[in-house]
Amino acid sequence: METLLTHLGREPDEQFGFVNTPVYRGSTVLFKTLADIDAQEQRFLYGRAGNPTTEGVEAIVTALEGAYRTKLVPSGLAAITIALLSCVKAGDEVLITDTAYEPGRLFADGFLARMGVTTRYFDPHIGAGIAAMIGPRTRAVLAESPGSVTFEVHDLPAISAATRAAGVRLIVDNSWASPLFHQPLKLGADIVIHAGTKMFVGHSDAFAGTISTTEACWDDVEGTRKLLGFFASGDDAYLVARGLRTLAIRMKEHERRALEIATWLKGQKEVDTVFHPALPSHPDHAIFKRDFTGSGSLFSILLKPAPRDALAAFLDHLNIFTMGYSWGGYESLCIPANPRKLRTAVPWTREGNMLRLHIGLEGVDDLKADLAAALERYARAR
Ligand SMILES: *Cc1c(COP(=O)(O)O)cnc(C)c1O
Repeated sequence: METLLTHLGREPDEQFGFVNTPVYRGSTVLFKTLADIDAQEQRFLYGRAGNPTTEGVEAIVTALEGAYRTKLVPSGLAAITIALLSCVKAGDEVLITDTAYEPGRLFADGFLARMGVTTRYFDPHIGAGIAAMIGPRTRAVLAESPGSVTFEVHDLPAISAATRAAGVRLIVDNSWASPLFHQPLKLGADIVIHAGTKMFVGHSDAFAGTISTTEACWDDVEGTRKLLGFFASGDDAYLVARGLRTLAIRMKEHERRALEIATWLKGQKEVDTVFHPALPSHPDHAIFKRDFTGSGSLFSILLKPAPRDALAAFLDHLNIFTMGYSWGGYESLCIPANPRKLRTAVPWTREGNMLRLHIGLEGVDDLKADLAAALERYARAR
């Protein structure tokens, strides 16, 4: 994997020997003769379909995921919406995990509903039970493992056995683990998406998404993308490729630091629960150990119940952690989360203030000291 990340997707012989494929900017691609136009066989026909910079990224992700092919799209959300749209027509139904990334839910409840496609949400722990939910109109199942905010690990082999038997497509959001630690296609998924914005880019400075598929799903996914006109620019593709070159060492460091801090947080008296699947105390740890080879930078904690003021005391005076959406950069983030307002299939009933942490590449002791001071302020205000 480390060698694929460093060597794939670049062709120095075609770039005057320069190591990296440069940023290709271009809409028009020129043809020399009428015969060339008629044949439509040039490697590139029009910039919206891709260019050497975007194709370099796609080659890397295809190899890492063990996919047939991959398409780079403008954002992780675009990857979700294209993947879902590639499976459905009016009158169909999709099943989505209750812990899915919220904007994906909003797309299903808003946009897909308007197009005559209905959505039902399922318990992330459903496993083989998904078979009983699949009906004659079901076309796709969207899972995200582990789930956003609360980190439930999905039993993908059990879910994919049911989707395969029913001829339903299984789409998996694999942004958290990255293909280095988890490969859903090998567990029976049909389509894997990434918010490339997060770990792939790794520096909080660009948006990207990827969609990797089996051979059977490729024409539907690429056909849908093409008709919708989604295209990732050469500039952004360059930043994704640049990030991917160091993904392996970054993932290892994020994993080590996140685990160290999650373990330490478990012992703090203001902390009720730590939601990190790599901790043996996590309810889905056995499935995690079976299906994943490593863990990501992101996890959540539930603080003991306290008024909003105590949460403000925790968050407003952090020195190293900063507050903001997204994750995956070198900088640590801490943001309040409210699963209560997201869940419909399995209502969230736990009391307490929830925080989602992304552990960056700062010194671990500095990060701990920042959190220790924040926990002290929380305790005083509680
Ligand atoms: C951020 C995120 C997305 C969406 O990615 P964008 O590039 O921000 O559109 C999708 N899935 C997960 C799990 C995410 O965290």
